[in-house]
Amino acid sequence: MPTVATTTTSKTCPLSEGQTTVSAADARTGLNFTAIDFETANRSRESVCAVGAVRVQGGVIVGEFSSFVKPPSGFDEFEEINVRVHGITARDVDDAPTWDAVYPQLMAFVGEDLLVGHNARFDVSVLLNATGAYDLPWPELGTLCTLQLARAALHIPSYSLPWVATHLNMGAFDHHDPLADARTSAAVLIALARQVGAESVVALADHHAVPIVPTFIDDIDGLATELDSSPDPEVGGGFAGQMVCFTGALRMMVRDDARSLVAEHGGLTQPAPNKKTTILVTGDFDARTFRPGAAFSSKLQKAFDLVDAGQRLEIITESDFIARLSLGEEALRARARRRAKLPEWVVAHSGNGPTGDYWEWFRAALAHPKGRAVAGDACIWCDAPVGQSAHWIHRDRHVCGVHCNERLKRSAARAWSNAGIRQPAPTAPWDR
Ligand SMILES: [Zn+2]
Repeated sequence: MPTVATTTTSKTCPLSEGQTTVSAADARTGLNFTAIDFETANRSRESVCAVGAVRVQGGVIVGEFSSFVKPPSGFDEFEEINVRVHGITARDVDDAPTWDAVYPQLMAFVGEDLLVGHNARFDVSVLLNATGAYDLPWPELGTLCTLQLARAALHIPSYSLPWVATHLNMGAFDHHDPLADARTSAAVLIALARQVGAESVVALADHHAVPIVPTFIDDIDGLATELDSSPDPEVGGGFAGQMVCFTGALRMMVRDDARSLVAEHGGLTQPAPNKKTTILVTGDFDARTFRPGAAFSSKLQKAFDLVDAGQRLEIITESDFIARLSLGEEALRARARRRAKLPEWVVAHSGNGPTGDYWEWFRAALAHPKGRAVAGDACIWCDAPVGQSAHWIHRDRHVCGVHCNERLKRSAARAWSNAGIRQPAPTAPWDR
């Protein structure tokens, strides 16, 4: 059971005693950042059920934040595969606050810090999706991934947190307790910085040519429409250029389906690991059990030998594999082409601005005149189909997901402002 389950205070979402009053951190001048980690109830990124964050100033932990979170309704089913990994159940979050209550406190804790995560893309995705599920504005922060840093800095068979921590001579920790994971990824960043004598987070990122990326690109004005143009193997296919091999029994799909998915995402597969293998997916272990020192099959042992011999081969678990597929798709969707202008009804429906309930007005103004999207309706921004199981907020607005919804909300706010419509909306929920 994760430690958040044993600290009763975390259920009411306190800011920890050690919370800092240090002013705006600067990743450029020192080892200043906040490491963050999320757990989810199921495969939906909206289904946040726990969060841990650790604030670091000058290479020293100055504050910790953790809370259980009651996932939004419609996203609150606890799937077995998730529970097996993090040990959190529906009972644990029964009395926990919902994300719209935790988010402002978390953002007050984070301030302007750079967010650091191990596979930060996943944590940022949960942050944006959970926040989008409550229609709250997204945070605009920089992010840096210790998984990418570890891949650049180390040569080990797996870059999942227990392997990196062991390699860097850190103690054992409760992997997938979000606070323990956040502490460990903070320690990983600090250790990697010491390794190369980097005195700031930016210097460390530059040293390994790992990009600091924004939580999202606000491209409504046509500014910065191009994300960084550096080739990223996880974007544009997820497995582009990779030679993938599977071992052990997969739990969530059959081997043939897994092979087809790799092909659809730009990669090649092979039956057994050899000198060409770049990724080995193991079905025998999950994110919690795949640790240095476990009992490994001969296929895995062969992979370790190949790594020892200098081969660039990474062993990942099935849930890492699935995350990589879906994050690749999400990144592609986030870059979907923009529509030339805001749909006209957004200003027409807004009247003279909110008079009664703000959210009622806001949602009515953004709603598509045709009503809730039905099968075959396309996203107003990117033409992608609006899924029939999509969040009701997205179906009401005919947007394909959180990225296109955020575009709609931001461009609407600007159009209202230009039209002289007063929108007394909080610019950020933590200002309320
Ligand atoms: Zn879209």
